[in-house]
Amino acid sequence: MKALQYREIGSRPVVVEVPDPEVGPGQVLLKVTAAGVCHSDEFIMGLPAEQYVYGLPLTLGHEGAGIVEAVGAGVTGVHPGDAVAVYGPWGCGRCHMCAQGKENYCLNAQAEEIRPPGLGAPGSMAEYMIVDSERHLVPLDGLDPVKNVSLTDAGLTPYHAIKNSLPKLGAGTTAVVIGTGGLGHVGIQILRAISGATVIALDVNQEKLDLATAVGAHRTFLSNPDAVASVKELTGGRGADAVFDFVGVQPTVELAGAMAAAEGDVTIVGIGGGALAVGFGRIAYDVAVRTPYWGSRAELIEVLDLARAGQVEVEIETYSLDEAPTAYERLHEGKIRGRAVILP
Ligand code: NAD
Ligand code: ZN
Repeated sequence: MKALQYREIGSRPVVVEVPDPEVGPGQVLLKVTAAGVCHSDEFIMGLPAEQYVYGLPLTLGHEGAGIVEAVGAGVTGVHPGDAVAVYGPWGCGRCHMCAQGKENYCLNAQAEEIRPPGLGAPGSMAEYMIVDSERHLVPLDGLDPVKNVSLTDAGLTPYHAIKNSLPKLGAGTTAVVIGTGGLGHVGIQILRAISGATVIALDVNQEKLDLATAVGAHRTFLSNPDAVASVKELTGGRGADAVFDFVGVQPTVELAGAMAAAEGDVTIVGIGGGALAVGFGRIAYDVAVRTPYWGSRAELIEVLDLARAGQVEVEIETYSLDEAPTAYERLHEGKIRGRAVILP
């Protein structure tokens, strides 16, 4: 079968022919219907050899949807023909975190070398993929796989981040979204759907700000130090009750810290390597700073429910598997509107 692989440190991903995978006990073989392109792929492909821990060659794709093609011995909950989305942050299924559905924070994943698809295990950018357990599949129940595959990360990750801040986002509050790309443009819609907050979006690119407005942001500003004064002015000097940074570079974490209100939340989702100084007097009183990773299985079900209710819609650009390297080029250049989706 064909697969998109990252094969050599510092190289661009390429489409190659690889053996068809065979389903083992407890596993599920999917015929992939859609695979999303995430900035995290770009990030790992930019790592130097000494920091790269995902194995080579790596079949990319940690957002996946497909049709069950075959099931291994012992699999009883899914059947050939079922349309499913893949819950990507695979865990052991037994530990205290996994028992709560929070496999994204599995206590054993590292020791047992359990790796998410596309981030260690072979991913969804291939004609077929193996899912290690039926536990990691969620029924699509009528949702279009192409339009919704990115909810498995670009939806689930902001949903988890925002849900944790909901107690601070009632009526009359303000939320700021920094970076309105794949995750951010879904985050804006989730904030509109489940919170009472006024939503302010920041980006460095005017086209991304236009998308932010189109998907529901009340106000937009260019992401630069002046944005702090703009947010303060809109909030009567208080600042934002929650800031979600979907970039995470040094300038954006500093912006996030500077515009958070007393008792507000700063949630750094982007993995840009920025560090926020939080000593006494450096940020407003009682600000909580979080660095979440992906989300729980229950939250994936919830975010798919939001889509089914028509409250969240991912803006997509579609590409064939052969065109996947072009999708990554366009992501690299900051040109994707919303999310790129590969159709293997
Ligand atoms: P993306 O490329 O689709 O979007 C990034 C957006 O940020 C773009 O619109 C870009 O114009 C904007 N941007 C860049 N620099 C900026 C700045 N200084 N200020 C404001 N906006 C700026 O990326 P994505 O796929 O949405 O991913 C966003 C980030 O989240 C990446 O760092 C990715 O690796 C990370 N991520 C984290 C998790 C997690 O679990 N924590 C999960 C998925 C992705
Ligand atoms: Zn676990």
